[in-house]
Amino acid sequence: MPEEQGTTTGRCFACKRTFSFDPKEVMTFLIDPETGFPPGITFFGSLRPAKPDAVARSVDEPVCPDCVDKAKRFADPGNTPPQWESWPPTKD
Ligand SMILES: [Zn+2]
Repeated sequence: MPEEQGTTTGRCFACKRTFSFDPKEVMTFLIDPETGFPPGITFFGSLRPAKPDAVARSVDEPVCPDCVDKAKRFADPGNTPPQWESWPPTKD
């Protein structure tokens, strides 16, 4: 009998969408609640110094597969550095 246990529901850190995931399989990001970003790495994969106190207060937040995919694409070298949902190509 297939085991469907272990699936839980949570809110994607990035897009706030509720989605189901297996806690053992889901991609998570360690998020510093003060900044909303991981202490040692930005959501998009660029590195920055991680302070120990930031790491200590950070929590793992699940991220839905769509956003993982987006983050990977944004992390590609050569892409324009993104700003999540506020990336305005406004030119007057
Ligand atoms: Zn998402």
